[in-house]
Amino acid sequence: MKKCSCGEYSDIELIRKAINERIKKSKDLKKQLKLVSKSDTENILFVCEICNQFWQSSRAWNWGNDEYLFKVPIIELQDWIQNQFMAPDEMLIYSAGMSVYMESNINSFVDGNEKCIKDDCIEKSLKGGKLCKNHFIENLGVVGLIPKRPKGRLFKPYQD
Ligand SMILES: [Zn+2]
Ligand SMILES: [Zn+2]
Repeated sequence: MKKCSCGEYSDIELIRKAINERIKKSKDLKKQLKLVSKSDTENILFVCEICNQFWQSSRAWNWGNDEYLFKVPIIELQDWIQNQFMAPDEMLIYSAGMSVYMESNINSFVDGNEKCIKDDCIEKSLKGGKLCKNHFIENLGVVGLIPKRPKGRLFKPYQD
């Protein structure tokens, strides 16, 4: 029976080096995969015909727009076409931007005694404010003070 090399690849760690390394290996890796579909953005869905592992290819714009592959869960083609998986390079850039923001604002995040006013939220609002930490941050994203959350569906192991 033919063997594939899917098992040699782990989920990409969210550090720059890991994206670099995967970019280098993706050309070879791609040769053993079968193209399933292309999105109207830049994403491509592949499957390994030996072990049935799904892979998505995306372009890491912060790494010279190079293509790289990462493992994704099994998904219906229709679902994938509508909404592809969130690319690890974008998660990385996003969380880096977020941590810069969080570090410079660490002192603003102190819980007060009131409840967050957002919908059915059960968290306490921040001291001197009306929203809890999560809703406060969500609001900042809307007004563009922090990086925009990347598009796409989250998947294991990246979702908490
Ligand atoms: Zn495989
Ligand atoms: Zn809240």
